Amino acid sequence: MNLSSPNAVNEAAHAEHHRKIEQILAALEACYGRPVHHQHGDVLEELVGTILSQNTSDVNSERAYRSLRQTFPDWRGLTRASDDEIAEAIRSAGLSRQKAPAIRAAVAALLDDGYEERVRWLREAPLEEARAWLQSLPGVGPKTAACVLLFALGRPALPIDTHVYRVSQRLGLLPPGISASAAHRSLESLVPSEDVFRFHVLLIRHGRAVCRARRPMCERCVITDLCDYYNRAQRASHPTRERHGAQQTQPAARQPVDAHRSSQG
Ligand code: SF4
Repeated sequence: MNLSSPNAVNEAAHAEHHRKIEQILAALEACYGRPVHHQHGDVLEELVGTILSQNTSDVNSERAYRSLRQTFPDWRGLTRASDDEIAEAIRSAGLSRQKAPAIRAAVAALLDDGYEERVRWLREAPLEEARAWLQSLPGVGPKTAACVLLFALGRPALPIDTHVYRVSQRLGLLPPGISASAAHRSLESLVPSEDVFRFHVLLIRHGRAVCRARRPMCERCVITDLCDYYNRAQRASHPTRERHGAQQTQPAARQPVDAHRSSQG
């Protein structure tokens, strides 16, 4: 390959990232097990559940979802409810005054064109068109849209939550300070379509168990040799160690991986 042209340089960098991602996924899978993807097909549940999960814990958002469905067992009934009624039903999720109108608008948009038709279109349309339609709804950003496309419909959209963002940056797959929407575009271009689900789940698992926000437990990490953050820190604190090879690390304990809700971060 002629590396003197910018295209060739980009292609070489891309190929390097692909190899690195393959190695990261193989190591994390050996540690946490292979994630199993159950595409559930329920776009309404995924969209509403993901809006509820924004800026709160899984426990609180799941409680709010149950309360919402008990109050409005019929989705069409929810579209006729007031902001106050919806906000009261989802209080445990927090930000209920913002989430209530967003949920009503999202549900109405999905029902108004004929729900089955819209779901079929979201499944079959070019990925960017489906993503743009979802992101045109109030309260729906790149992560929520990607959750719907990936978890409900099995499309190769990569949700980037706080764990995926942090771990990817430390590994050197995302540049520092990149915006959320640019991070989605950038990582999706690097991760092969067939690996999007396992990449998402395994990075969240690793971010929760080992590569924690405040104090990453690098001494337990199985991907130190692939991590820019770790190798920078090693070079800074032991400038001569590089010449004698990388430090050996103890792998984290293998734990089963749950798909979907546990992967929401
Ligand atoms: S080496 Fe440390 S910073 Fe890098 S991925 Fe592992 S835990 Fe995170």
